[in-house]
Amino acid sequence: MTVEALNPPGIVPLDHILPDEPLLMMGAGPVPLPQRVAAANSIVINHLGETMNRVIEQVKTMARYVFQTRSGHVLGVAGPGSAAMEMAVCNLIGRGTPVLSVVNGYFSRRLAEMATRVGGEVSVVAIDGNRCATPEEIARHLAGGRYEVLTIVQGETSNTVCNKRLQEIARIARAHGCLVVVDAVCTLSTMPLDMDGWQIDAVITGGQKGLSSIPGVSLLAFSDLAWERICARSDVPAHWCLDARLADQFWNQKSYHYTAPVSGILALHEALRLVCEETLTARFLRHRHCSEALQAAIEAMGLDLFVSADSRLNSVIGIRVPEGVSADAVRTHMSGVHRVEISGAFGHNILRIGQMGEQSRAHNLFRTLHAFGSSMRSCGAVLDLPGGMAELERHLSESTRSRAARVAEAAAL
Ligand SMILES: *Cc1c(COP(=O)(O)O)cnc(C)c1O
Repeated sequence: MTVEALNPPGIVPLDHILPDEPLLMMGAGPVPLPQRVAAANSIVINHLGETMNRVIEQVKTMARYVFQTRSGHVLGVAGPGSAAMEMAVCNLIGRGTPVLSVVNGYFSRRLAEMATRVGGEVSVVAIDGNRCATPEEIARHLAGGRYEVLTIVQGETSNTVCNKRLQEIARIARAHGCLVVVDAVCTLSTMPLDMDGWQIDAVITGGQKGLSSIPGVSLLAFSDLAWERICARSDVPAHWCLDARLADQFWNQKSYHYTAPVSGILALHEALRLVCEETLTARFLRHRHCSEALQAAIEAMGLDLFVSADSRLNSVIGIRVPEGVSADAVRTHMSGVHRVEISGAFGHNILRIGQMGEQSRAHNLFRTLHAFGSSMRSCGAVLDLPGGMAELERHLSESTRSRAARVAEAAAL
């Protein structure tokens, strides 16, 4: 065989594969990138040295604001949100660690699965019926065992349930001597989360959701208490790349662990900078107003939301697919005709529209709602498209008028 025998014929450049016009990404992630973030992602610099040190210092300082923590243990990881989940899990949980995992859906079950794989003795509290966990039921479970770690998700992207009583649950877990690990991949910077104030011991996030950065570079923060536990461990975590004490060498000691994903970290820097510039106060309000406007508009069209208001996540909206309509056909029509992409779901007959980062902009909402309603109708649904559009218009113009006043008010508190 010659060297060239495996040189493949028929490979085309990317622009032959990608659509002429990029799709508007309105699903459950990845989300559209601000121009600054995309530009930063195209740069390569040395992963060590003075320039990188300054970038890392700023990333950590901005991350502390976004996580709402003064902890010195902010770390990054080259990997998806799941790698940050695994990093939190494998550093805090080992063979025989008793763990209570609150499972609302697919992603919180992934945390329980990871805890089991590293040898934890995991008890699962399955929260059925697409609703949020209550402090009362978690307190009951905590009282029934001696757990060292509790894992929970803030926003369960898979079924669009939000654990709205996270703060109370974290307080109860801490009172039982449990460290609290929170997956905030889809929610961070879209809704309040106060790591120090709520006494959370590990907060996990990814790039491509709330932060509107690229997928593949993620952040997490450990509390001092969590860090003590990590340092007191007599064995080492099984995953060398995810070892927090080794990662600390790069993130806090200016030395080498592995070659950091420099372009992705530059992108994350810009994404965090845009959050700081907007302020969390204004960003939370923007997300809430956009999501609530879209929810009201979808209901005004005559469609049903999947989760009841008391458990509903704002960062990703789940919509029931009407009888006789194919969810896949709706998505295909939306991306083919309108160039807007949304998500299907994991085992539920719902469609999901994201409201994370750049997705929560009025112009994206109008385009998405129109594409969604029009595609639903083409696929056989009976609905009031103009009624929905009018409701969106009404909500957004109201909230834009009052938003400036509310931002000023909230900032003064
Ligand atoms: C998307 C998501 C994850 C997984 O993130 P990846 O980057 O796909 O690994 C975990 N948890 C939640 C809540 C998510 O929304």
